[in-house]
Amino acid sequence: MRIVLTGGAGFLGSHLCDLLTSEGHRVICVDNLITGRIANIRHLLNDSKFEFREHDVTEPIRIDGRADYVLHFASPASPVDFERLALEILRVGSLGTINLLELAIYKKAKFLLASSSEVYGDALVNPQSESYWGNVNPIGIRSVYDEAKRFAEASTMAYRRKGLDTKIARIFNTYGPRMRKDDGRVVSTFIVQALSNQPLTVFGDGSQTRSFCYVSDLVEGIYKLMLTDIHEPVNLGNPEEMPILELAKQVLQIAGSKSQILYKALPQNDPRLRRPNIEKARQLLGWSPKVSLNEGLARTIDWFSTLSR
Ligand code: UDP
Repeated sequence: MRIVLTGGAGFLGSHLCDLLTSEGHRVICVDNLITGRIANIRHLLNDSKFEFREHDVTEPIRIDGRADYVLHFASPASPVDFERLALEILRVGSLGTINLLELAIYKKAKFLLASSSEVYGDALVNPQSESYWGNVNPIGIRSVYDEAKRFAEASTMAYRRKGLDTKIARIFNTYGPRMRKDDGRVVSTFIVQALSNQPLTVFGDGSQTRSFCYVSDLVEGIYKLMLTDIHEPVNLGNPEEMPILELAKQVLQIAGSKSQILYKALPQNDPRLRRPNIEKARQLLGWSPKVSLNEGLARTIDWFSTLSR
């Protein structure tokens, strides 16, 4: 297939570029490098199956030749970007999504949206199933991302009802090599702090939970979803849930670090509990994560430690 992948130079996007090219597909990777990096895709630049286009998808994009698939992964996604890049996030989730849905119609391509567990907001049920409508503060600090993803889902379903072949992946916390050192997300932040003997910054009392999925598992789930005929949203993530304080201790132990723990204020509207119900993905895609948190953290710590050498 010939696949247009937006956000292809980002963390998830670049791993997806690797998987798609290794499966023999041609990839047109579109990214404006606002948070993505050439370093993530440098190894693919000489691959004849791979093409990079620096472009902001909030502007319409022209693709010559055929396209079988449009995968929309472009968006800043870290909570630290929610203030700094608030307008960019709103625009890429709204204008960007509409542009790419139109491109898919024009090219007679299929469309897959990278949505997020953030559509569930500060969930009142745990674990979260796809049938849960969410609990989002529409004017809070996180709303630019949450509502952009909700708008993107609404747009995708509206185009679906007009006849476009669409899929929606609701992606839960994912980690692994190629996360940005300064990206602010908890796994990369804790690892960087542990490796440099800085205190690990735990927000609140660390009792809020998350469930962390290793990136190779996640992109395998995306690939399986791409190849099915499921149009309703599907959760993809690892259902192993843990308090953030527990994660901090595990990172310290695997990294063999003596860093202390430093408690800081909990950010506004930080979800208390997050854990995917992945029964739908298990049953319909035959997918579930394989890499344990221990193994995934060890691989990620390894990658970050080669970076700092
Ligand atoms: N967090 C933390 N210390 C940090 C960064 C994040 O305790 O240095 C917490 C944050 O408050 C949240 C969880 O870790 O409860 C996950 O945060 P992240 O930014 O990785 O992603 P989120 O799931 O909130 O989108």
